Amino acid sequence: MIFRVPADLHLHTTASDGTWSLPEVINMAEACGLTTISITDHDTVDALTTLSTSHTGLEIIAGIEFGTEYSSHEVHILGYGIDISNRALLKTLETLKAERESRARAMVERLNELGCSITFSRVKELAGPGTIGRVHIAQALMGAGYTQSVREGFSRYLEINGPAYVPRKKLTIRNAIELIKGAGGVPVLAHPGLVGDDQLVKDVINMGVLGLEVIHSSHDRWQTGKYYRMARQMQVVPTGGSDCHGPQGKDKALIGKYAIPDTWVRELKDLMAVS
Ligand code: AMP
Ligand code: FE
Ligand code: FE
Ligand code: ZN
Repeated sequence: MIFRVPADLHLHTTASDGTWSLPEVINMAEACGLTTISITDHDTVDALTTLSTSHTGLEIIAGIEFGTEYSSHEVHILGYGIDISNRALLKTLETLKAERESRARAMVERLNELGCSITFSRVKELAGPGTIGRVHIAQALMGAGYTQSVREGFSRYLEINGPAYVPRKKLTIRNAIELIKGAGGVPVLAHPGLVGDDQLVKDVINMGVLGLEVIHSSHDRWQTGKYYRMARQMQVVPTGGSDCHGPQGKDKALIGKYAIPDTWVRELKDLMAVS
């Protein structure tokens, strides 16, 4: 018998490219009846550092999501149960933040050359104090009337082979795994369906991740089944989450829509306890 628990282990806040602040995410999680969540911002733990220890009955797992690249595929590595005061981790996050800023400047310059008059200061304003990313550039493009949606900003300008795309220096998969393990966390391969190559997914698992994100808002039922079997076969823990970034245009937010089996949460916590 499988019991599903109201857990969502993949959520973003305004500390990266989400549109809800941490208190807003917590309110929404409680409103959805969630009992366990993880905050997994891109390249930052800033939201988690503002978390008070005695606020709610909601269990919050400290998480992170690193963007890495492998054989021209984007590979995202989640880390669960990390020590957010780990020095090596914080040092790397600082470097990644600076790197994101200079890359955003370069992308704005490209867009200016392409006739889109947006400014870096506007993009920075949209990012607020958090890590800056392509989503904020897409928001600036939309605000200035060059596109109708964030999605259109990506498809016309910002996608990996788009005219305004500038790569940023990323961690290697092995760096990300080591950094997460070094901070006492459990590395998990995010949304394998978006990697786009299952042999590569298996290669990444063999590099030392301990979990596979089986349930994800981008996966259909067939992919969910396939990655569940892969996780069990390769003896890594299945995990799941919505990857909610806040409400998406007219669409409702994804938070809470993907309950996961309680055994998965227990297995993840067991790994967190020994790492
Ligand atoms: P960056 O970290 O700056 O390279 O931006 C990557 C982030 O952009 C991802 O984590 C998503 O949140 C978002 N993203 C990627 N592709 C798209 C897309 N086609 N439409 C909307 N958002 C996207
Ligand atoms: Fe994102
Ligand atoms: Fe991701
Ligand atoms: Zn994510």
